[in-house]
Amino acid sequence: SRQINLASRPSGWPTADNFDLVEVAPPALQEGQALVRNLFMSVDPYMRGRMNDVKSYVPPFRLGEPLDGGAIGEVVESRAPGLAEGDLVLHGLGWREQAVLEASRARKVERIEGVSPSAYLGVLGMPGLTAYAGLLDVASFKEGDAVFVSGAAGAVGSLVGQIAKLKGASLVVGSAGSDEKVDHLHEIGFDAAFNYRNGPVAEQLRKAAPGGIDVYFDNVGADHLEAAIGSLNTGGRVAMCGAIAVYNATEPAPAPRNLFLAVGKRLTLRGFIVGDHSARMPDMIAEVGGWLREGRITASETVVDGLENAPAAFLGLLRGENTGKMIVRL
Ligand code: NDP
Repeated sequence: SRQINLASRPSGWPTADNFDLVEVAPPALQEGQALVRNLFMSVDPYMRGRMNDVKSYVPPFRLGEPLDGGAIGEVVESRAPGLAEGDLVLHGLGWREQAVLEASRARKVERIEGVSPSAYLGVLGMPGLTAYAGLLDVASFKEGDAVFVSGAAGAVGSLVGQIAKLKGASLVVGSAGSDEKVDHLHEIGFDAAFNYRNGPVAEQLRKAAPGGIDVYFDNVGADHLEAAIGSLNTGGRVAMCGAIAVYNATEPAPAPRNLFLAVGKRLTLRGFIVGDHSARMPDMIAEVGGWLREGRITASETVVDGLENAPAAFLGLLRGENTGKMIVRL
């Protein structure tokens, strides 16, 4: 079977040369292990950070070794208690067609009628929890809040906006990188949306939310964060989820230049990592899963076929080629 190794570390934007597609023989199964055929794997922005050799909340990928990350697969052979052939499992050994897993490292999940198993990598998985816990717990969202979310057409952002709407936001504004994505945001229920490439973010945000905003869910950082600080009302809250505008930068971003406004406006800016919020997973699955079954939430996906195209899918994600969750089908 095939896997993708880290060939070299990028400086600035990654390229196809940083990845190596290699053929490997699956190791023999030990007692306690299962062989899984991966059906879908996730590519996520945090993987860009793991390509650097720096200390962070997740260790870096290692040169000459396979990358890893969220994947969903089917058990094809098992010597592990609790795992049987045909079981659907969510695990962390993506970037390969087959994975050998200890039972403790695989979570058995249900097949849901009418829902692709890839949902466990998106709306019913890590991005879903990021949106749910980030909005409700980190940003302390409450009914009547006006919410702005950047990266709004992506996996996390599209859910943040829809959850806010379903929970009674007075206004939900999203920003994204193309006019097609802006149309999509209107289709999935955002009250207002703008293309950040069409003009200064601060100006477009002021126009979309003339009464200001109470919550900013930050996926982008830099000029988006600066614009949000400018538009936040007194007592406003920011969930600092990501800063994709700076992940490939080789120089520090100049914005936000107006951070001092946080003093007079009594703002709260809170960073968070989804892994610390796993206790909220059952609540998220119950509530968001319910909306999904009722057709009240749209969970878009952009699906790329074949392991050989996983690096291109990852680079495409960083460039904004996805609407909703970027998924690789193996
Ligand atoms: P997305 O599905 O949102 O994909 C990334 C998107 O970022 C692209 O589609 C692109 O859309 C946008 N983008 C790329 N470059 C820029 C730029 N310079 N300025 C503005 N937008 C840009 O990914 P996710 O939903 O998985 O992740 C969204 C954010 O959440 C990321 O910052 C990620 O790191 C963070 N995250 C944080 C977690 C945590 O625990 N804190 C957990 C999961 C995600 P466009 O066309 O609009 O530019």
